[in-house]
Amino acid sequence: MDAKFSANAKDLLGKRGLKEADVADVINTATTSKRRITNGKECLAKKRIGEVTVYALYDASGDIKSAYSHRMVLGEPVKTTETPEVSEWECVHCKEKAIQGTVNMTYMGITRSGPAIVCPKCGDSWVEEYLATKTIAAAEGLFEKKKA
Ligand SMILES: [Zn+2]
Repeated sequence: MDAKFSANAKDLLGKRGLKEADVADVINTATTSKRRITNGKECLAKKRIGEVTVYALYDASGDIKSAYSHRMVLGEPVKTTETPEVSEWECVHCKEKAIQGTVNMTYMGITRSGPAIVCPKCGDSWVEEYLATKTIAAAEGLFEKKKA
């Protein structure tokens, strides 16, 4: 699928320091692997590119709705005793409803758990935009300050 970038999408990518080629790569990889989640209208895909995980939110025609990234590396989902809340997302690969889960996230040698959308079948996880751009970005900044 060819990614299409509107003026707004290009603007957003510029502000977030993301490359069009990388976002297109995320979508192409997700199309081949089926490793993505969908809410029926839009798909969310991710790929580790260099030091960041790049996310692309796009619709069936390849129009980019949003893109963002985080530097933390996502690890295994954390098992909790609570009954998980089902999310609006479905894992395309497993055809399984994804849940509001918790995953280990590692950055600069430190591992913490944080909220993510998790497929209960394959264990793959996706961080939502508001968390990646606010909570996780803030945590990454704190870790960097401590190491500096
Ligand atoms: Zn899955």
